[in-house]
Amino acid sequence: MAITGIKGFNDILPGEVEKWQRIEATARRVFEIYGFSEIRVPIMEKTELFSRSIGDATDIVEKEMYSFTDKGENRVTLRPEGTAGVMRSFIEQKLHVLDPVTKLYYMGPMFRYERPQKGRYRQFHQIGAEVVGVTNPRIDAQVLIMLCHFFQELGLTEPTLQINSLGCPECRPLYRAALKEYLEQRREELCDDCRRRMETNPLRALDCKVPGCGVATKDAPSVLDHLCQGCDDHFAAVRRHLDVTKTPYSVNHRMVRGLDYYTRTTFELVTGLLGSQSAVAAGGRYDGLIEELGGPKLPGIGFAMGVERVALLLSGEGFARVPDLFIAAHGEAAGDEAFRLMTLLQGEGFRVELDYEGKSLKSQMRRADKLGARFTLIIGEDELATGQGMLKAMADGSQVALPLAASPLAAALSCS
Ligand code: ATP
Ligand code: MG
Repeated sequence: MAITGIKGFNDILPGEVEKWQRIEATARRVFEIYGFSEIRVPIMEKTELFSRSIGDATDIVEKEMYSFTDKGENRVTLRPEGTAGVMRSFIEQKLHVLDPVTKLYYMGPMFRYERPQKGRYRQFHQIGAEVVGVTNPRIDAQVLIMLCHFFQELGLTEPTLQINSLGCPECRPLYRAALKEYLEQRREELCDDCRRRMETNPLRALDCKVPGCGVATKDAPSVLDHLCQGCDDHFAAVRRHLDVTKTPYSVNHRMVRGLDYYTRTTFELVTGLLGSQSAVAAGGRYDGLIEELGGPKLPGIGFAMGVERVALLLSGEGFARVPDLFIAAHGEAAGDEAFRLMTLLQGEGFRVELDYEGKSLKSQMRRADKLGARFTLIIGEDELATGQGMLKAMADGSQVALPLAASPLAAALSCS
């Protein structure tokens, strides 16, 4: 019996992978316009990094992490998200010494033990960005504008931006207490998870997918009514900068995040097209995280998007690359000539295919068709003798006679 892959771990095959490449290339291009540089950090870190940053009472740390003890008795975890590792590296490598403002982006696989379904997998991929060192709300607005710019570049009108503020260590405890009191009165209507979370993380009840909890929390107090002056001013300034730059958004005061480190501005890019997997990208400010991890007292803000979900939004679009030219050859000597021309043209940057197995001309042409080659060239005894061949445009069937040499072929391939 053949060995299968692990449940929730996917292969990304040719035909689909071109979409991923386009997403990644667009992210690099757009993020670099805004001054971000790529950082690559390991996919495995010490388990304590995640429990300390993401928070012990979060779903991720409570039940979703791929943690194990390695052969040296070290507790390690496959990263469930990117921020913790990037901040660990930022602190360890003292990146703030190089520049007081650090803008980084990353892309790669993340791992969470969740129930696999459309848009939710156990190995999934994120592209994320982080800015360290800026408290001014203009950076919050800029990060959001960059994210919207990215989706525009992909030609997507979904997802749309929702923002909220979760307050700070000064005002959030007050909100938490008010929310907890509200939830206590509706304890009977809440699911088991929310009843349990009421003590450790009551905000999660606002985000619970169980319908009863949605009804029970409908009139729950709003975090936005509990912000301290500093947080209120910060949030107003973020909105003002989005308004003046005509960046569309809506305020969702029920939005909470599944990670403990968020403060003040939080946001999600949501879509109605992916069922309950509605969040395509999410993030926020994390002003206490770097210090919490033993680093300098510096503020941060960032986001991560789920590449699988972005790819689902792009579905239906064909990105498969087609050959520029398929050379069909008849006979051994013609095969050699086809190989020589292919190599020269590939050196010039053209995508060229041929048949390696000496198949019939008819079967070679079938393959050229199947691959969707833009042009075909047949080389047989006559063509070898005259040094001339017919280049055929597959779109309209038009043909042109050309010398069997790299430069006239290259000119013909590139002019249409
Ligand atoms: P959700 O509410 O869908 O569980 P989340 O709040 O856990 O998302 P984050 O931890 O903020 O998500 O991660 C950012 C993004 O990564 C999400 O918006 C989503 O697009 C993507 N993502 C998160 N978990 C998964 C997963 N298991 N499979 C695929 N994509 C995921
Ligand atoms: Mg989740």
